[in-house]
Amino acid sequence: MFNYTIDNKRYHTLNYHLKKTFGKKVYKAVIDAGFTCPNIDGSVGFGGCSYCLSGSGEFTNDSCLSVTEQLKKEYERISKKHAHPEIIAYFQAHTNTYAPIDVLRKKYEEALSFPHVVGLSVATRPDCIDEKVADLLEEFSEKTYLTVELGLQTVKDETAKNFNRGYTYDVFLYAYKLLKERGVRVCVHIINGLLGETKEDMINTAKMVGKLHPDAVKIHLLHILKGTEYEKEYNENRLIPLKKDGYVDIVISQLEYLPQNTVIERITGDGSKENLIAPKWSLDKISVLGAIDKEMAQRNTHQGIFLLDETCDL
Ligand code: SF4
Repeated sequence: MFNYTIDNKRYHTLNYHLKKTFGKKVYKAVIDAGFTCPNIDGSVGFGGCSYCLSGSGEFTNDSCLSVTEQLKKEYERISKKHAHPEIIAYFQAHTNTYAPIDVLRKKYEEALSFPHVVGLSVATRPDCIDEKVADLLEEFSEKTYLTVELGLQTVKDETAKNFNRGYTYDVFLYAYKLLKERGVRVCVHIINGLLGETKEDMINTAKMVGKLHPDAVKIHLLHILKGTEYEKEYNENRLIPLKKDGYVDIVISQLEYLPQNTVIERITGDGSKENLIAPKWSLDKISVLGAIDKEMAQRNTHQGIFLLDETCDL
């Protein structure tokens, strides 16, 4: 029996969650606040994660624009499709807790002061969350609907080392704990299709994440993008992209180990057409989502059906 749906979905969609939380659909407005990343500027590493292109902010506006100017543009874009939208300001590009506390506070406050903003999302790396940053996020969490989007990608440190993530699973757990102790809503990002990962590895990541009972998870399909390290691996036939059927099969198995009340904020990738090398089938998002729904119905399964009893001690 699956409880978190109003439209016969067998997993807990973001749409369902936002409607329950705000009483209506709200939209994400993406921001590049001009931060960089310690895995690019040399503090942790150079070159970034092997799949990273422009700090994962492909759809953001120019970082030369202020937060307010970017939100204005985003509001206009969203308003063309939806009348009088309310928006969540999404600090998406690079690492959005990688700056002095006063700089972070100023940027977040600027976003919150924009009319129509009803919440914040802050994407970051676990090694950029310390006690002071966690305290700041707690402060914002108390005054708005805040989500911290925390990159994990895989629990397997060997894979992470290969793609130059720059932190271990233990570092992730420490940051997660700091945030959860302060009541901050956390969305954990995972990626399917990383170089060297088997189906079992990907399912194991979902099992381990499920034991943490996170507020939300984003499941990404690995996109091989132009100009990244993974493009080279792909050209030299070391990195084989997932096929659509295989991806659907893995995602469903992962959902089965995630708690029902964990919101699935994303269930596939979202790359720009001009930068995507493979897999091209992912551009047809509607077909991927439809295939997941169809296969879940055929298997008569739903999110959390195999949830493990144990929880993870942090
Ligand atoms: S942590 Fe994010 S921004 Fe930094 S290199 Fe990795 S993917 Fe890019």
